[in-house]
Amino acid sequence: MGLGINAVIDFMYPPRCALCGRYGGDEEGICPDCLSQIHYIGSPLCIRCGKPFSHECATDHLCGECLTGKRYFTTARAVGLYNGLFRKTLHRFKYQWKHCLATPLGALMATRMESFFSDAAYACVVPVPLHPRRLRKRGFNQALVLARMLSRTYHIPLDKNNLVRTRWTQSQVGLSERERKANVRGAFAVLQSARIAERTILLLDDIYTSGSTVEECSKVLINAGARKVDVLTLARAA
Ligand SMILES: [Zn+2]
Ligand SMILES: [Zn+2]
Repeated sequence: MGLGINAVIDFMYPPRCALCGRYGGDEEGICPDCLSQIHYIGSPLCIRCGKPFSHECATDHLCGECLTGKRYFTTARAVGLYNGLFRKTLHRFKYQWKHCLATPLGALMATRMESFFSDAAYACVVPVPLHPRRLRKRGFNQALVLARMLSRTYHIPLDKNNLVRTRWTQSQVGLSERERKANVRGAFAVLQSARIAERTILLLDDIYTSGSTVEECSKVLINAGARKVDVLTLARAA
């Protein structure tokens, strides 16, 4: 008898919440206090792009943008609104590479995924790629980290080198919607179309802001022969 090794480890290193740093994180590594601060996105929302509507709208429907414009992805969904503590957390994850955040954020995404996509039988998970120069500077691709976790949880093959950035783009931060679209236009390519031909793909990114990045990636994947592209992000601008 005696204490199990996990109990000893917990005693020596009590689990801390990966978001606020206080002791008492649950098995996902985020404490209940922090979890309750995330504004989870649910109905009513745009059935296509996942844009949340005010609660005066009774049902899900298409937003004006999806009604009038062409969309290459079928469904885009995000776990929570990009604000408050969640925004701060994602910022730290992306720019300061807080490795301890990868597991709880990936788990959060994996937990919510089933409620978003009824048919989650994807042929592969594809992360939005970084330009090699940005990857060298940042040291990791946050979308790839999340995609890898999802791939493991759901046993969906990870296709990480097929969708690539073919040219350098400036950061989308601070750009208008029109500028964002122009900034990413023609910035991506599929190296081996045969690997995605007729496949359903789950495209992964950390944040959906104007949607121009995931839309451009979806366009490239569809034009390369993919049958369907769904998009999953951790956060979304309202
Ligand atoms: Zn916390
Ligand atoms: Zn929409």
